Amino acid sequence: MNPNALLAPYAAKSETSQGRQYSEPPPGNRSEYQRDRDRIIHSTAFRRLVYKTQVFINHEGDLYRTRMTHSLEVAQIARSVARSLSLNEHLVEAISLAHDLGHTPFGHSGQDALDECMKDYGGFEHNFQSLRVVDELEEKYAEFPGLNLTFETREGILKHCSKKNARALGELGQRFLERRQPGLEAQLANISDEIAYNNHDVDDGLRAGLISVDELREVELFNAQYETVNRRYPDLAERRLIHEVVRRMINVVVTDLTRHSQDKIDEASPDSINAVRDAPVLIGMSEKIHEQHIALKRFLRERLYAHEHVRNVMEQAHQRIVALFDAYFHDPARMPDQHREIAGQMEARHAEAGRARAVADYIAGMTDRYAIAACEGIIAWGQ
Ligand code: MG
Repeated sequence: MNPNALLAPYAAKSETSQGRQYSEPPPGNRSEYQRDRDRIIHSTAFRRLVYKTQVFINHEGDLYRTRMTHSLEVAQIARSVARSLSLNEHLVEAISLAHDLGHTPFGHSGQDALDECMKDYGGFEHNFQSLRVVDELEEKYAEFPGLNLTFETREGILKHCSKKNARALGELGQRFLERRQPGLEAQLANISDEIAYNNHDVDDGLRAGLISVDELREVELFNAQYETVNRRYPDLAERRLIHEVVRRMINVVVTDLTRHSQDKIDEASPDSINAVRDAPVLIGMSEKIHEQHIALKRFLRERLYAHEHVRNVMEQAHQRIVALFDAYFHDPARMPDQHREIAGQMEARHAEAGRARAVADYIAGMTDRYAIAACEGIIAWGQ
């Protein structure tokens, strides 16, 4: 069967891809986007996601989401919506699996700390770093640096970008300067990320005992499903009840997203991925569900991410990243040989900013537990 038979005209297609930075022979029996997905799964950065924080530090418990399980949940949501909208499932999967590859250890506090350390050297932004990982930092192939992914996958990975970085990126950064949209697969992976973490953070927050079912009942999206489940299964044990509620919440949002996006696509009726890029954002929830989704996001920000326990752990994480950066930046010999050599080469080209970037790349690539061990080594060494 023609692999494009199930794809809408506005979906990304392997044959009309804008291609790779280094040209390669076409893949044998895979599409270009399947090849991208496979390269991402085989990358070192992907494997490290197992030991990187989503909200809870990796050693806090075995049942919390990590960046890896988060990325898999994003891909699951995005693929099911892609199929309903006749979009390219392989592309959306590749983008979803790669979207957090540039994340530092310790989640957002790690990223903020590294950004602070890098403030005089161009800053640090995890989303931009994800692109840097697939474009430059992965060392896998004889013929090119990075993974040499297609334009469409790279376009999807880069969700936001400063004007300065956009200009430096050339064609890929162009849309941020012209305020154009990426393809629908990129738009879908982006919103699936939000749906995934909003819902799994409810589950993880409850599991950790940092938020309660009673508190969550203030949130409409949660309460509506809670009441339905409670009415139907009044004697259900709490763990199963929570799962029933969360899976129904995902279902409500995803069903709404699919319907509303299809309506918007029908209205704009783009006849190609390029027409999509010129149209307004077409993947989104209805106003009513979007408001509920935002209310849940606000609840999590105020009650979970700002919870004293999370803040304390994150404050410690922040200090660790700053300590690592200071140590390596002032004494690159503390880094393993390979990274020390890279720092030397980058310093020769870009002075201190080059050395700082090499240090940031090294730290960003660390898993939580590696960063903790490295920090303990450094602290012991410094004493
Ligand atoms: Mg994410």
